[in-house]
Amino acid sequence: MTHTAYPQSYYAASANPAPERPELQGETETDVCIVGAGYTGLSTALFLLENGFRVTILEAAKVGFGASGRNGGQIVNSYSRDIDTIERSISPKNAKLLGDMAFEGGRIIRQRVSHYGIQCDLKDGGVFAAFTKKQMAHLEAQKRLWERYGHTQLELLDAKRIREVVATDNYIGGMLDMSGGHIHPLNLALGEAAAIESLGGVIHEQSPVIRIDRGANPVVHTARGRVKARFVVVAGNAYLGNLLPELAAKSMPCGTQVIATEPLDEELARSLLPQDYCVEDCNYLLDYYRLSADRRLIYGGGVVYGARDPANIEAIIRPKMLKTFPQLKNVKIDYAWTGNFLLTLSRLPQVGRLGDNLYYSQGCSGHGVTFTHVVGKALAEALRGQAERFDAFAELPHYPFPGGRLFRVPFTAMGAWYYDLRDKLGI
Ligand SMILES: Cc1cc2nc3c(=O)[nH]c(=O)nc-3n(C[C@H](O)[C@H](O)[C@H](O)COP(=O)(O)OP(=O)(O)OC[C@H]3O[C@@H](n4cnc5c(N)ncnc54)[C@H](O)[C@@H]3O)c2cc1C
Repeated sequence: MTHTAYPQSYYAASANPAPERPELQGETETDVCIVGAGYTGLSTALFLLENGFRVTILEAAKVGFGASGRNGGQIVNSYSRDIDTIERSISPKNAKLLGDMAFEGGRIIRQRVSHYGIQCDLKDGGVFAAFTKKQMAHLEAQKRLWERYGHTQLELLDAKRIREVVATDNYIGGMLDMSGGHIHPLNLALGEAAAIESLGGVIHEQSPVIRIDRGANPVVHTARGRVKARFVVVAGNAYLGNLLPELAAKSMPCGTQVIATEPLDEELARSLLPQDYCVEDCNYLLDYYRLSADRRLIYGGGVVYGARDPANIEAIIRPKMLKTFPQLKNVKIDYAWTGNFLLTLSRLPQVGRLGDNLYYSQGCSGHGVTFTHVVGKALAEALRGQAERFDAFAELPHYPFPGGRLFRVPFTAMGAWYYDLRDKLGI
C-alpha cells in the first residue's frame, strides 16, 4: 500500500523523533476504537487510558497528519462562535456548562505538557488585534463575557500598548489573554501519542478506516485488518471524506495556508514580537502569526480552496505578512503548506452519537486547538457513563449545508466573500 507522509511543513522538518507505527493487520479487540490521530482522537484516548479503558487508534496517515500537525499553533480560548451565541442557541444549563468549559482546553494542554514532559515550545500569551473601532468594541464585550465565566487573565490594549507587543501600525488596539499562548502543534500531537503508548494504548498509522459496521458489536475495518470494540469514536474531522455520510452532509472542509520564514536574527525577531506572544487579528478571514522557537515568523491567513503548490501559497500569504510587517521584505520563505479545517454552517462544533456506541466530534471551524482537548475529556466522560458535559456539546444545533454536497463550495465561498467584504468595509 502507499505510504502517506507529512506535508513538507516547518513542523514536519522540526518534529521530535517518533517511532514508525505499524499498519493494522489482522483482527484485534479493544474497548474503544478511535478513528483519527489528531488532537480530538489523541485527547480522547489519553483521558480514556487514564481511566482504565483499552484504546486502539487507527490513523490513515501519521499522528498529527491533519490540522493538528499543521496549524498556527495558537492556543485560543473559547469556540469559533463565542459563548453569547451559545447562550442564544441552547438551554441555559448547557450553555453554562459550555461557558465554563471554554477555558479548560488550554489548561488541559498545559497540564499534559507538564505531566508527560512534552517538548513542544509552549509559550504563554495570545493577542487579539483590532483594525477598527467596531472590532475593539467587540473585544471589550468579549472581555466582559469571558469575565462573567471567571476568566480573568485579560487586558485590553490601546493603540500605544498594542504597539509595544506587535511592531506594526495596523491596529488600533487589542486584547491580551495570558492564558492563550502557542505551541509547536505537531510536537504536541507526537508527545500525546507517546503518552498514550506509555499507558498501553495502541496506535496504527497508515491504516485508513474504510468501513464501520454499526450495531451492538461494532467492527471497524481497514484494508488489511479490523478492530472489534465496545465503542467507536470518529475523529477524522476535515480529512474524514465520506466515511460517515451523515457527518459529511453537514460540514465543509476548507483550506487555509501557512508560511514560515527563514530564522530571523535575534534583534529583528525581538523587534517584531518583543514578548513572544502569538497574534490573530479580528477579521472574519483572519491572519494569525507567531515566532517559532528558532525565531521564524510563522504566518497564516485567509481561507483559500486548493492552493496546494508551495509557490502558490507563498504568493498568497507573503503579501499578507508584508502588509503587517513591511520590515520583512528581504526575508526568505523556507516553508509553505496548507491544511484543512472543517467548517459548519453555524461555525459551532458538531458533537454527538450515531446509535448507542458510535460517537463523533467535528467542525470546530477554525479554532480547534483548545476545543479538541476539552471535547476529548467530555467524550471520555460520556463513555464512562457521565455524559452531562458531552450532552451539553451535543445540544448545539447541527445544520445541513443548503443545497447538499454539490452546492457547498459555492455557497460558503460566497459567504467567505461576503465576510471579507464586511471586513474591508469595516462594517
Ligand atoms: C492551517 C491551519 C491552521 C490552524 N490554526 C489554528 C490555530 O492556530 N489555533 C486553533 O485553535 N486552531 C487552528 N486550526 C484548527 C485546528 O488545527 C483544528 O481544529 C484541530 O487540529 C482539529 O483536530 P482534529 O483532531 O479534530 O482533526 P485533525 O487534526 O484534522 O485530525 C484528523 C485525523 O483523522 C485522520 N483520518 C481521517 N479520516 C480517517 C479514516 N478514514 N481512517 C483513519 N484516520 C482518518 C486524518 O488523517 C487526521 O490525522 C488550524 C487549522 C489549520 C488547517
